[in-house]
Amino acid sequence: MGKMKKMVTCESCGAEFEEALVRCPYCGSGNANAEETEYMQQMEEIRTELESHKKDGDVQLKKGLGKVARTLLLAAAVIVILLLTGWGLSYRSEQKERKERKEAFLVEQGNDEQQEKQVDSAK
Ligand SMILES: [Zn+2]
Repeated sequence: MGKMKKMVTCESCGAEFEEALVRCPYCGSGNANAEETEYMQQMEEIRTELESHKKDGDVQLKKGLGKVARTLLLAAAVIVILLLTGWGLSYRSEQKERKERKEAFLVEQGNDEQQEKQVDSAK
């Protein structure tokens, strides 16, 4: 069974033509129903296009968030490195200070030993 095409009667000339036609094929006057259908289709196309743009926007937003996240991660890494370096430097300077104190102490002790040796050799 063939699909029945909906027919409309032209408001201008009274001729019957397919509802899907935007204009009457006989007199060329507009078919309001078809125009509305076409308009709705155009609106649907615009809506679909807008949604695809919105999806693109979401993707770009996600990319943007990814960029922000990467920037934050990089900043965090830099802070961590700075903290570690700062801690390392302060730790090293503390170690150096301790070493210097120890060396000074040893030098003092050594001087004492040397003095003692000198005293011993003087005997
Ligand atoms: Zn007509």
